[in-house]
Amino acid sequence: MGAQDLVGKRYIVFGVASDTSIAWYVAQELAARGATVTLAYQKRFMSRVLQLTKDQKWIEQMEECDAASEDSVKAFYAKLNGQYHGIVHAVAFAPAEALMKPIVETQEADFNTAMVVSAYSLVRVTRLGLPKLHPESAILTLTYLGAERVVPGYRIMGTAKAALESLVRELAASIGPAYGHRVNAISAGPIKTLAASGVPGFDQILDWMANNTPLRRNVTQADVGRAAAFLLSPDSAGITAQTIYVDAGYVSIGAPPDMDRLLIEPRLSPPEGPV
Ligand code: NAD
Repeated sequence: MGAQDLVGKRYIVFGVASDTSIAWYVAQELAARGATVTLAYQKRFMSRVLQLTKDQKWIEQMEECDAASEDSVKAFYAKLNGQYHGIVHAVAFAPAEALMKPIVETQEADFNTAMVVSAYSLVRVTRLGLPKLHPESAILTLTYLGAERVVPGYRIMGTAKAALESLVRELAASIGPAYGHRVNAISAGPIKTLAASGVPGFDQILDWMANNTPLRRNVTQADVGRAAAFLLSPDSAGITAQTIYVDAGYVSIGAPPDMDRLLIEPRLSPPEGPV
């Protein structure tokens, strides 16, 4: 078992839908460090979530919640007792039709849906969650490189994630002074989950990343879970308003590594034998 640095801490996690959900790994990592977790899940995933969470003693409470609805989020928080140390927002959605069409054909209703569910919901769960948080709590959301670069197939979700990353900065500046709460995002590399399977060409993106990141691999939900636990713990007390990359370094890459052959410098090779 790892460090028990979160014993006695309580977190609220939005976004567990299945055993592949990033939120599920974040929740498990918080638990591994001694915290207890309350889950907010979407009704359509209820049976999966109930199955998944059976006999998990570290789950304090589980309630359904639609992050797109003010009334639903209000009703969710009304069912919780006491104070919490953080909120995880791992929620995103865009209508499948909108992800299949070129961005120029995006319809207003689909744009609004993607923005409300994937970006505005962070404002909503933060605002309505404020009375439930201890001072100096941590709020964490999940974003993707498509917020700042064109990634094929990501389309309208890129716009929604750009808004989300901006909201991280705005919310941090807005609630930090009065409450001491921190607001951060993890920009995760691609991971095969239910949400990811809705992105056209996702498997090709995974292949590309595995061959082109500085670590020559994709990240896992567990990689994100561990970084998330850090950002939700007092160890990151001085970090707010940031987007932190858990992407095996891909964001630093300006050109594919096989372009090395164009360089005059010889490729660095590992030392031969003992040095
Ligand atoms: P996932 O499908 O397991 O999780 C998405 C979650 O969003 C689900 O739990 C779903 O119930 C929830 N959700 C959607 N609409 C909702 C609503 N109206 N109300 C409440 N919940 C709602 O997939 P995931 O990949 O674990 O996604 C979690 C987060 O990570 C998302 O924000 C996603 O954009 C982000 N992310 C994913 C990847 C990736 O490659 N998988 C990369 C970077 C960022």
